[in-house]
This record gives sequence, C-alpha cells and structure tokens, in this order.
Amino acid sequence: MNRTKLVFLSGILFAAAAHAQQPATASDVVDRAIARENALLAVLQTTTPVAETYIQDLVPDNDFGTVPAGDRYFIGRVDLSHGLSQTSYLPKGSNGSRLDLFSRFFTIRYLPKGFAQMMLIDGVHFDRQHYDFAFQRREFLGDVRTMVFAVSPRKGSGAGSFDGNIWIEDRNDNIVRFNGTYTGSSSSNLFLHFDSWRVNAGPDLWLPFEVYSQESHLTDFMKMHTAHFKALTKFWGYGGSAEREGGDFTSLTIQTEDVQDHSQQAADPSPVESLRAWQRLSEDNILERLEQAGLISKTGGMDKVLDTVVNNIEVTNDLNIAPEVRVRVLLTTPLESFTIGHTIVISRGMLDTLPDEAALAAVLTHELAHIALGHATSTDFAFSDRLHFDDARIIARFRLARTPAEEDAANEKAIQLLGNSPYKDKLGQAGLYLQALSNESSRLPSLIRPLFGDRLVDGHNIMRMAALMETAPQLQITRVDQIAALPLGSRSRVDPWTDDLEMIVMRPVALVSPSEKMPFEITPIYLHLTYQDSHPSQVAQTRPVEPGN
Ligand SMILES: [Zn+2]
Repeated sequence: MNRTKLVFLSGILFAAAAHAQQPATASDVVDRAIARENALLAVLQTTTPVAETYIQDLVPDNDFGTVPAGDRYFIGRVDLSHGLSQTSYLPKGSNGSRLDLFSRFFTIRYLPKGFAQMMLIDGVHFDRQHYDFAFQRREFLGDVRTMVFAVSPRKGSGAGSFDGNIWIEDRNDNIVRFNGTYTGSSSSNLFLHFDSWRVNAGPDLWLPFEVYSQESHLTDFMKMHTAHFKALTKFWGYGGSAEREGGDFTSLTIQTEDVQDHSQQAADPSPVESLRAWQRLSEDNILERLEQAGLISKTGGMDKVLDTVVNNIEVTNDLNIAPEVRVRVLLTTPLESFTIGHTIVISRGMLDTLPDEAALAAVLTHELAHIALGHATSTDFAFSDRLHFDDARIIARFRLARTPAEEDAANEKAIQLLGNSPYKDKLGQAGLYLQALSNESSRLPSLIRPLFGDRLVDGHNIMRMAALMETAPQLQITRVDQIAALPLGSRSRVDPWTDDLEMIVMRPVALVSPSEKMPFEITPIYLHLTYQDSHPSQVAQTRPVEPGN
C-alpha cells in the first residue's frame, strides 16, 4: 500500500478526523488488528455465550423469488475455553430437527465445525505467517469508520482458513465485521459463506453478535444432495456469569435493607398475603433461573413499552391485580407467549414479527386473561433446591404450558377484555397475523414449536384467539400494502453483554414487490454500528500497546 496515497484518501474522506495523532499506515493497522483479534479470543475463552441458530430451507417461488420450505433450530451455550464446544438447551429427542452445531445435520454433512465457528476469523492462527492482507477502501458502518482489507490465506495455511474481507474500526483497530468463507472444503469439511458482525459492548470490546449465512446451490461431494437455505446465528449472554459474580454482593445488600424497611412498617401478613408472597417467590425463582441461563432479557427499555400496553388493557377493564403484572422478553426466536405467575413472557421472535401495537396487545391480553382468571403457576420452585440443575436441562425442567380448558377460558376472556380496550377497533392486523401464521405453519415447524409455552398453531388450526380471524380482512399474500407479519429481527436489539433489550425504530420503507414482505423470514444483516462509549477520549486511553513493526 502506498503510504502517501492512503493519507491523501483519509484527508479527503474523513476531514473531520484530522487530529494530532499520526495517521496509521495500513501495515500498522493490520498489526494492531491482529493483536486485538487475539486479545478478543482470550476474552471469549473466559465466557460462555448463548448461541442460537435458526435456518430456513428455501425453494423457488414465482411471486416471492424464494419461500421457506422447512426450518431448523438450535439453542445452547458455546464454550471456547478448550477449542470450541457446545451444550444444547434442547431436550433430547424433543423434536426431529434437533441441530448439533458440530456434527451432521440435514442430509448433507457440511458443518463439522458449525455455525458457532463463524464468530471467529481463525481461532488457531490469525497472523501474518498465515495470511496476506490488502487494503481495499474506507467505509462507514453506521457511525463507525472502518478500513476494509482483503484477507487471503497463504500457501500451506491449511483447510478452514479464512478467505474474505475484514472491516477494522479506526479508533482501536478492532475487527467489527468479516465476510467470506473458510477455505479447503472437502468431503468431510464443507464450509459455508457467511457475513459475521460484532457490536461494541464496552470500552474496546467488540463482541461477536450476529452471523448471516446463505447458500443457493450447495452440493455435497457425492452430488447426492443440494441445499438452498439462509441462516441466522445470534450470540448473547456473554456477561452472564461475570455479572452474577460481581453483582451478588450489591444486590444482597439492597435486598437486606428492603426487607428491614418493610418489617418495621408492616404488620404480619394475612394468610392471603402469605400465599401471594409464596407464589411470587416461585415466580421470581423461575425468572432468575431463566436469566442465569441467558434466556430472558434483563429489564430494559422494551419492558416499559410492553408494560404500557398491558396497563392500557388493565385500566380500561378496571382490573386491579396484585401483585402487579410484569412483562419480560424471552430472548429466543420461536413464536410463543406464556405466563409465570403474574409475569407475562413474550418471545423476541413473536415481538419482532407482530405487525402493530394492537396485535401485540392481543397477544398480551390472552396472557393477562390467564392471570385475571387466576390460572396459577406451580409453586414447586419456591423451594430453592429445585433451581439447582444444569442449564442444559432448563427447557425440559420448566413446563409452562396450560391445559386446553385454561386456554379456551383465556381466549374467551381475552376477547372480552379487548372489547373494552383502546385496541377494540384496530384488531384487523392481529387477525391477519394469525392467518399468516396458519398459512406458514407447515413450512416453519421449528419457528412455531414453543420452547416453554403453548402451541399457537396445531396443524393449520390456530389455537390462540381464533375469533380475531373472523373480523380480519382476507389475507392477500402478494399485496405489498398488506403486512400481516414482519420479518424476524424487526423490532428489538439485545445488548450481548448485559442482555438488556431495547426497542429499535425502523424507518418505514415502501415495498417494491411481494418478495420484500418476508413474513417470519430471516433477512441479511446490516447493522448500524455505534460506539457504546460516548467519550472517545476515554476509549483512546485503553488503546493497546502497539506491537513493534
Ligand atoms: Zn394461554
């Protein structure tokens, strides 16, 4: 790379960046990026993030280009402390599509190292001995200025080496995105193409966040099978164990003070209050256990939005429920909602795909109806020892589904509650959502199979508030101005370190063709990257020691 030319380019494109610091040469940037990448690997080896992979098999379609024709789902913990290993959260044999990240799945043997590997460029030897780097261009990814380099493995680097582009942010030279594949596919190692993104989760910390993959004509070496699919892998829950270790003492102190305050003021609880406290204890224990497993969001901005919707229903129906109703978000993709005591839980996949606030209100009202009708959650988990089990068993352990009789009663009650609510004249979209769900149910069984709660669809039969479909308009899947369900990932963004969930506001975009509707579908990733720290000078102080050139 010509040094003079690079400085000139940066002067033209990034005049605002003219600060006292000497502009780095491309070679310096690469050296520091390699050092940062290996520092990240060391950090990742101390964490066990949650990894979720959702795959949609595709077939060609005249109206939509492609449509999903099947799907697969995996969720578990990834452990990088000794190479790469994973623990599945899915109960063994619970469904036919249990996906092992590291061994055979589908009918093609093409993912021995799996989707989780795509969080790393090269977990073994990312250095100048094994790779050549060529500067390509500068590019903004959101608010983050990056330098783009082509990376190619040198001769003898071995199978599984990265080949593609990397994006290096220019503040601390962390790699924030890489896009390409691993080289050296063979009959036992068939590597996929992927676009892997990271997000800033603290000073100088860029964590693997989402990986998009797609293949349209992937064949195995015997030419026996062809795969056509898209897949999204998400990582979060990095801070889980660290948060617990660091946070225990603080929360203990607060709780102790809290208890003392109450004991001074209040008389002994009545029998009913004792029962409620016991129920709440079991409820809180389940929620805390789900939080420890990285399955439920920490309270964030999203909870307040959801609380507001529930409050709208309660106020207009004169419901005074004690203890108060809370809403939390399950961080997983399969569509479901359920209650734990007086806590309503809705999955991120459901939240993302609901078309509007009234449709969200309809989902939450069904759960509120369970609470208003006094449908109880088992208080078995008020005994602490019952929370002592491996994360791998969590989905098998917490059965939170309702009986058919409770479901029917809640559906009926919910329609009544909605009739008094501010959403009563806006429920057409909710009915359309259910129609769309029924329409896709046979093609997306993994998306529709709940992890904890009740099925929304059985066969093509909508099990949840089917009455809403009667008053809804006819579903017209090729009309671009009728949006029954949104693509996955439309509404929320999780902080992968803290598990806080925030709402994201999308710009409304007029659709050109039905192929852009993508109801319930995975879409490519294009993140608007930002620095979490708003004080650049503080970040600059954490700049790593530059390796000698
Ligand atoms: Zn229900």
